[in-house]
Amino acid sequence: MTMNTTGRPTAPAHADHISGDATISGSKGLLQHEPLIFETDRWAETGVDLPKTKGVKSRLGGVTRKADVQLPGLSEPEAVRHYVRLSQRNYAIDLGMFPLGSCTMKHNPRLNEKMARLPGFADIHPLQPFRSIQGAMELIKELEDWLLKLTNMHSVAMSPKAGAHGEYCGMMAIRQALIARGESETRKRVLVPASAHGTNPATAAQCGFIVDEIGADKRGRVDMDDLRSKLETTDDIAGIMLTNPNTCGLFETDIREIADLIHDAGGYFYCDGANFNAIVGRVRPGDLGIDAMHINLHKTFSTPHGGGGPGSGPTVLSEALSGFAPWPLMVVDSSHGTDLLTYADHQDDMPGSDVQPVGRLTAFQGQMGMFVRALAYIMSHGADGLKQVAEDAVLNANYIQARLKHVMTPAFDGFCMHEALFSDKFTAEGIETIDIAKSLIDEGYHPMTMYFPLVVHGAMLIEPTETESKAELDRFCDALEGIAKKAAEGDPRLKGAPYSAPMRRLDETQAARKPVLKWTAPEPDQMAAE
Ligand SMILES: *Cc1c(COP(=O)(O)O)cnc(C)c1O
Repeated sequence: MTMNTTGRPTAPAHADHISGDATISGSKGLLQHEPLIFETDRWAETGVDLPKTKGVKSRLGGVTRKADVQLPGLSEPEAVRHYVRLSQRNYAIDLGMFPLGSCTMKHNPRLNEKMARLPGFADIHPLQPFRSIQGAMELIKELEDWLLKLTNMHSVAMSPKAGAHGEYCGMMAIRQALIARGESETRKRVLVPASAHGTNPATAAQCGFIVDEIGADKRGRVDMDDLRSKLETTDDIAGIMLTNPNTCGLFETDIREIADLIHDAGGYFYCDGANFNAIVGRVRPGDLGIDAMHINLHKTFSTPHGGGGPGSGPTVLSEALSGFAPWPLMVVDSSHGTDLLTYADHQDDMPGSDVQPVGRLTAFQGQMGMFVRALAYIMSHGADGLKQVAEDAVLNANYIQARLKHVMTPAFDGFCMHEALFSDKFTAEGIETIDIAKSLIDEGYHPMTMYFPLVVHGAMLIEPTETESKAELDRFCDALEGIAKKAAEGDPRLKGAPYSAPMRRLDETQAARKPVLKWTAPEPDQMAAE
C-alpha cells in the first residue's frame, strides 16, 4: 500500500479484502483517485518568473518574503478538478437523506436561499449606520416575535451562533442571576441526565458549575426517584439541563413536575431546545416552566447545517432571567422624531442597572443570513404549517420505527417523537453497530448516528425529518432492513464495509487517538528514498 509521509494510505486498501473490484489506479467508476494536493505539487512548472526589472527599487521595505509560500503549484484545470473531485466524494443533503439523529439535517428550501441572497440582506455590513439597515433590523425583530410566540417566553437573545453557544448564553444568564441573589458560591450543582447531548455537561462545566448526572429509567425518561433523592440530599442546586424531547427521541412526560421540583429547590430550568422541531406549534416551552432554552435555527428552521453553513442558536429566557440577557438588545430610539431600531449594548442603557447582564457573547448581532432563512421558512409555513412540521417529523420517525421493528430492536416501548432509536440486541455475535452503519454507505446512505445516546447499548439513532417523502423513507428502510437481516444472520461481509466508498473502513481508534491534522512536507532524504 502506498503511504504518504505522515503514514496515511494514499490508495484505498481494497485489494486485501475482496477481489474483483480492485483497479490499477485506485479510481472507481468515474471517480478518480488522487493523492493530496500537496503531493501533486509541481511548483517549478507553475506560473512564470519575470526577470527583475532594472532600475526599479522594491517598495516593500524589509517585508519581502524570504522563504517559499508553501502552496502547491498546480495549473488552473488541475486545481479546479482537484476540488470538484473532492466535492464528489462528499455526501450532502442535496444528494440524499441524512438519517443522522440528534442533528435534524433537513432539506434547505431554495426559497430561503433566494431571500438570503437579496443584496439588501447579503451585502449588509454590521457597522452600517442603523438608519440604513432598518429593514434588516425589522426582520430580526419579526423573527424574535415569532420565536417568543412559539415558545411563550419573555425575551430572546439573538446573538448566539450555535446550539452550544446558546447553552452558554442561558447558563451564563443563570450564573448572573445567582450572583445577583448572592448565591453563586453556594449553588454550584447542575443536574444533567445521562442521555444528555455532550454539549450540556461541557457547557455547565465551562460556566464553572459541577456536573451531576441523573439516571434514565426503563422508559428512557429522567429517573424521577434519582432526581428526587438528589434534590433531597443536596442543597447547592443551581439548576438542571434537560433536553425535551430528549436524545432518546422521547417526550419527558414528567417535565412539569421536574420544573416544580427544581424551582422549589431554588434552581433554574435550562432546556436544550435542539429538538424543538418535534414539538414546534404543538407545545410552548414557556408553559412547561422552562427558564432558558436555545433554539437551533439550523435544525428546527431548516437553515444549512454543519459543513453546509454556520449555525444560529437564539436563546429564549423567562421573566426571571430576562434582565441578564446578553448585549446587544434591540431597542426603539425615538429621540430623533422618527422611531429608529437600534441596539443597546452598554450597562447604562440597561433597564434597572442593578442587574449585571452577561455582556457581549459575540461581535455584532448574530448570523444575519440564518435569520433571513429561518424567517423565510417560518413565513412560508405559517402558524398552522409549523404545527404540521412537528407532526410530520414525528410521523416519519414512527413510520421508520414501525417498518423496522420486526428486524431491529427498538430501544424503548411505544411511539417515539422525531427520531427512532434502536439497540444492537438483534445482531448476531460479532456484528456491531458500526458494521451496520458502514454497510449503509455501500447502499448509498450516510450512516445514522451510532453509539449515542450512551444509555442504549450499540445505539442507532435515526431522524428522517419532515422533509422526506414516504417513497424516500421506504427506499431507506428497504436498504436498512436488508442490512439488519444480514446482521442478525451474522454475515461476515458486513465487517469489511464499506466496499464501494473512495476510502474503505478507517481505523477509528487511531483516528481519534492520533489524528493527523496537518500535512508536513517530507524530509529531503525521505523523498530520495521513495
Ligand atoms: C445539535 C445539538 C446540540 C448542539 O448544537 P450545535 O449547534 O451543534 O452547537 C445540543 N443539544 C442537542 C440535543 C443537539 O441535538
